[in-house]
Amino acid sequence: MNINKGFLPIRMYELFIIVVILLPIAWTLGYFNGRKAAKRKVSDNQVGFSKKYFVGLNYLLNEESDKAIDTFVSMLEVDSETVETHLALGNLFRRRGEVDRAIRIHQNLIARPSLTSAHRKMSLLELGYDYMAAGLLDRAENIFRELVREQAHKTASLKQLLQIYQQMKDWESAIQVAEKLQVDASGSLKTEIAHFYCEMAENRLYIEKQPKEAQQFIKKALNVDAYCARATLISGDIEYSLGRYKHAVKAYRELVKQDIELLPEAIEKIKSSFYQLNDKKGLAVFLQNAIEQGAGVSCILSYAEEVRHVKGDRAAGEYIAYQMSQHPSVKGLLKLIELHLKHASESAQPSLKMLQDVVSKLLENKPIYHCGQCGFDSKTLFWQCPGCKSWGSVKPIQGIEGE
Ligand SMILES: [Zn+2]
Repeated sequence: MNINKGFLPIRMYELFIIVVILLPIAWTLGYFNGRKAAKRKVSDNQVGFSKKYFVGLNYLLNEESDKAIDTFVSMLEVDSETVETHLALGNLFRRRGEVDRAIRIHQNLIARPSLTSAHRKMSLLELGYDYMAAGLLDRAENIFRELVREQAHKTASLKQLLQIYQQMKDWESAIQVAEKLQVDASGSLKTEIAHFYCEMAENRLYIEKQPKEAQQFIKKALNVDAYCARATLISGDIEYSLGRYKHAVKAYRELVKQDIELLPEAIEKIKSSFYQLNDKKGLAVFLQNAIEQGAGVSCILSYAEEVRHVKGDRAAGEYIAYQMSQHPSVKGLLKLIELHLKHASESAQPSLKMLQDVVSKLLENKPIYHCGQCGFDSKTLFWQCPGCKSWGSVKPIQGIEGE
């Protein structure tokens, strides 16, 4: 028999759990049980306990650490002194990603009729966290809806419910919970609530094609957070979809004031709105004002396009070159190459074409958006960052490779 060989493959942390937490407890319980039994006759309970102890030890020696842990855990009697150990073990397993084990431990605790009410609720809270970790949102929701009635667990439960409803995209429930949480935790959630209303508005506008209903949600979003640029952007889109181009332009003007970095998201509809109004001069003024206020390269290139329509390629090229000297930009450079290519001599064309390909490829692999909170980069605009779950923190990238 080679015991050492059997021990080695057990993962370090399992060994840690067994040796540092479970074995001393098992040993202590065994010791006291043994002392009690010495005073009376050996009880059946103790025989059962010793038997389990050796069964667990046997699993351990046979490399079956999973079964060993389960056996040692089942040996721990649940009483007021060992509840904390059970809870600590359950948390340890959950943090290690072994959610099924954490669930078993917490379910085992809750099933004990001897548990005090306070310990039962603590175990229930932990089981709720387990279900969250396992993605069993409906089960987690049931638990947190029960615990939200308990003052001691109200804030924690509301925070979890808020996460659940966001994941389920149940925005109505998310708003209700966020409103309660604002009062309970005395911290503002107006940014989040405004975004929830925006989600509802986008559903109505883009999926159900009901722009007028969408507008009602936008009003609510702006009532909660008057500076919600996303709501203003959607408001412009709603007016645009209704063919009310003057109102759309008004909303987009507001967007420039609220958050100029989001202007690239509206630029095509801004141009289209002015074209529909047959107001090219108005468009030029709009773009010029936005550029003066710090709008990025998308706006500059749109203005250059208007210059090109009126004054031709040369004037547009000069305008872009001037802007690039003030705010260097890869996108601007690409447009400049494109304009030069149209008028370049035959001998200059191959090298300009090569330059165009290189710059295009450079932009192809670059992310367009960036989260100011956690640094998450993407090519898609996420209103809720997939990395840190913040709302409104992902914006178009600024600087030489971005806007
Ligand atoms: Zn983030």
